[in-house]
Amino acid sequence: MGRLVVLGGGESGVGTALLGKEKGFDVFVSDKGKIKEKYKQVLIHNAIEWEDEMHTELKILNADLVMKSPGIPDKVPLIKRIRERGIKIVSEIEFASTFTDATIIGITGSNGKTTTATWTHHILKEALHVGLAGNIGDSFAKQVLEEDYKNYVLEISSFQLDDIIDFKPKIAVITNITPDHLDRYNYEFQNYIDSKFRIAMNQTKDDYLIYDADDEVITNHLKQHPVQSTLLPFSLTTPIENGAYLEKDKIIITIDNNKIIMPTTNLKLEGLHNTKNAMAASTVAHLLKIRKQTIRESLENFHGVEHRLEQVLKINKVQYINDSKATNVNATYYALESMDAPTVWIVGGEDKGNNYAELFPFINEKVKAIICLGVDNEMLLHTFGNMVDIIVETQFMSEAVKIAYKVAEAGDNVLLSPACASFDLFENYEDRGRQFKNAVRNL
Ligand code: ADP
Repeated sequence: MGRLVVLGGGESGVGTALLGKEKGFDVFVSDKGKIKEKYKQVLIHNAIEWEDEMHTELKILNADLVMKSPGIPDKVPLIKRIRERGIKIVSEIEFASTFTDATIIGITGSNGKTTTATWTHHILKEALHVGLAGNIGDSFAKQVLEEDYKNYVLEISSFQLDDIIDFKPKIAVITNITPDHLDRYNYEFQNYIDSKFRIAMNQTKDDYLIYDADDEVITNHLKQHPVQSTLLPFSLTTPIENGAYLEKDKIIITIDNNKIIMPTTNLKLEGLHNTKNAMAASTVAHLLKIRKQTIRESLENFHGVEHRLEQVLKINKVQYINDSKATNVNATYYALESMDAPTVWIVGGEDKGNNYAELFPFINEKVKAIICLGVDNEMLLHTFGNMVDIIVETQFMSEAVKIAYKVAEAGDNVLLSPACASFDLFENYEDRGRQFKNAVRNL
């Protein structure tokens, strides 16, 4: 099979290495950073050659195929040299999908990928042999090797899509597109949009593209760059003939004149964004001919994913909500939109050039106090200083939560929805969310 070099020794890299070895490749794993101990042990145990904290070019530039971890940008010199040599570079989903005949449901978008993918899997698993992968749990490559599911729900980032060649999901979902990760796309929003649409680039009319028809970025792009796929839009506002829409508190899904109706009143997940996620997930399920009753039950008994508007505890009639995964303004928009009580809002972190203007109506309407939690809070203090009576700053989660506890009154919410990355004060968003929950539990 030739020499496979895997750049990046994380979950997807190690999964690719294992699958590659099984398929007869001569595999080498190289990581510029430190490879986690648990992954080193897997590589050693499987007699796969590896190095970390360096890239030895002699052992890399002789590759027949390179699998690049999505975290590595195209502009690093090593990647440039690999391309100059004409060596094929692919992402993990491209590599792994060549070794399975499973039906693939690929879910991308700026926000809502994990929620929609997990929810879709939650419904499908009632009736189908189905794996869930891509940034969630075990890598896709590892599951292809060890489980060989008949169906996969994959959460797919734009970075994974940048390095696909033949990857073709039977069903693709684009949840929404708002500016994110622009540093990887030459600060051109269009490049990022193009990247998201690569999910449909190999689809034919026998494949499906499910997307948010209320998202003008998506609909404008589709007008200018039509795709081959059969389109199944969903909308909160407009009746849709083939696809899904909301009518009062019912989701109506029609595919080839086959209509099903799902009530939304018993959904555990709140907020209009989650109604959209529910529409996307149940459209997939309807396409795959899951029984209506099964879709309905599993839509309703889904409790959501950790760190996404996660209800933590109620203390003195104050609800504490962990939305640590909200690392951009759009995600926080939907968090504030879904608040149904006066809210003490904990916000801040590493600002990616945020424009907070779209949040202003919610601040006036629902936010009674703002707690800025970041190394540099200038931007937040400046933007929101005149809009609320109470605005304070801190660099400690425990202090942020204590202040929130003092300010909040019975019936209020305390919401951590940072709209920023976490790396200034925390290891990652999970660490930030866990610290929040611990601080709440210690009150
Ligand atoms: P992703 O995997 O795309 O980052 P998640 O499901 O992890 O998405 O959710 C990330 C954040 O976005 C959370 O704060 C969540 O509440 C919010 N969110 C979830 N679904 C949507 C949606 N459809 N539109 C906007 N924001 C959403």
